[in-house]
Amino acid sequence: MNQIDQLAQAAEQFGCKVCRDEPMSLHTTFKIGGPADLLITVYTKEAIKELYRLASELFVPLLPIGNGSNMLVSDSGIRGAVVALDGDFRQITLAEPNVVECGAGATLADACLFAKVNSLTGLEFAWGIPGAAGGAAFMNAGAYNCEMKSVLTACTHVTKSGEISTLTGNELQLGYRHSAYTDNGCTILSLTLQLQKGSKELITASMDDLFNRRKSKQPLELPSAGSVFKRPEGNFAGTLIEQCGLKGRTVGGAMVSQKHAGFIVNIGGATCNDVLNLIDIIKNTVYQQTNVALECEVKTFG
Ligand SMILES: Cc1cc2nc3c(=O)[nH]c(=O)nc-3n(C[C@H](O)[C@H](O)[C@H](O)COP(=O)(O)OP(=O)(O)OC[C@H]3O[C@@H](n4cnc5c(N)ncnc54)[C@H](O)[C@@H]3O)c2cc1C
Repeated sequence: MNQIDQLAQAAEQFGCKVCRDEPMSLHTTFKIGGPADLLITVYTKEAIKELYRLASELFVPLLPIGNGSNMLVSDSGIRGAVVALDGDFRQITLAEPNVVECGAGATLADACLFAKVNSLTGLEFAWGIPGAAGGAAFMNAGAYNCEMKSVLTACTHVTKSGEISTLTGNELQLGYRHSAYTDNGCTILSLTLQLQKGSKELITASMDDLFNRRKSKQPLELPSAGSVFKRPEGNFAGTLIEQCGLKGRTVGGAMVSQKHAGFIVNIGGATCNDVLNLIDIIKNTVYQQTNVALECEVKTFG
């Protein structure tokens, strides 16, 4: 039995759900990506400790996934195991009157709704970001001049070798689309969010307003991974790309969105290579015409 088979068998014994050769196109908002050797869905803290400990002994790489909304996965897929968090990791509770404890596998949408129901303000900006809470903490996701950094005070994680630990405050190293987790290889299990008491009506109005703005500007009707590039200093990637005449430019099934030039959309059957080739064209053209070097926000795997 090889290491992948050993890990798969043990994961099932730990109570995880195991899928073999699982197409990642089913788990990314781009709808792109070849098969992962294993997709392991984990439901409890005990199981994740065991799983990570064993994977490190067997040298099987593990890749945590949230909602796959910031991922571009290679057409040949991912070697090792992709780890999805469900069950206990989707729970959202009120730890203190203004403090929300949110499982990393919960969607940001569920976290926003929980905050709204409890008349807690601070998370409205995240309404419409199609990620899971863990992915949002990892990326320090943000919109409309707010980011996770403004509400995230701690994350509990599991290390590569299966130990549970917590980072708080500055240890989280939250910066523009960056956190300590971008570099440390740990998997976030839960987030502590410090919110403020607010008015449910105002929270609802703000969420509606931000969502409508999003809908009017972003190509939500087509598969994508959101803004492909980070915001360059003093500029917007979408504006530069549009100014370079690249709106509507296609490679295979990948197209620079006509609605928002910062997005690449999958107009049907796009491969990872189509997207990567289009990214190269965009980067080269923007650099030649404006001297700005665009940097990818979307993460590439496999
Ligand atoms: C239509 C659309 C609009 C978007 N708008 C915005 C926006 O306004 N602002 C913004 O910031 N982003 C936006 N995004 C991008 C994306 O939604 C965010 O980056 C989001 O936070 C990613 O979360 P996810 O759960 O989907 O992460 P994934 O795509 O699943 O993963 C992203 C990275 O995080 C890692 N990761 C995921 N979960 C964990 C975990 N539990 N522990 C450790 N690492 C983990 C993955 O390994 C990967 O490296 C948008 C995307 C789309 C498709």
